[in-house]
Amino acid sequence: MFIDSHCHLDFPEFQARLPEVLANMAACKVTHALCISVDIPDFPKVRKLAEDHAHLYASVGVHPDYEDTPEPSFEFLLEEAKHPKIVAIGETGLDYYRMGDRSYESMEWQRDRFRTHIRAAVASKKPLIIHTRSSSVDTLKILKEE
Ligand SMILES: [Zn+2]
Repeated sequence: MFIDSHCHLDFPEFQARLPEVLANMAACKVTHALCISVDIPDFPKVRKLAEDHAHLYASVGVHPDYEDTPEPSFEFLLEEAKHPKIVAIGETGLDYYRMGDRSYESMEWQRDRFRTHIRAAVASKKPLIIHTRSSSVDTLKILKEE
């Protein structure tokens, strides 16, 4: 028995192949999978996968690489986390790898978003799924602060 703790089955490239992917999972003894949310517009698709399939679960959150996307509020995350198939908050975190020549200060939106998710994870008592790339010092610092 295996559990895939991090997959993105809602991504467009899997849409037409979902039955095949689910069959391959079963053949490889992957009995459960956690479908990870990366933004709010696509979150309903992630939640629906969990609702439609007993062995799929979902998270709610916004990835740090999604910049021009609606920001989730603490209240939104907390409300969605009440769903019985939403088992975690994220994925979220920090990613300074792709900041290019932008300033540290200009990445404050990522740190704000990360704090919102941490607070929702604490309040909902659900695990937090963290994406961290070239940002481990700040990731640990913010986790400790929160
Ligand atoms: Zn991911």
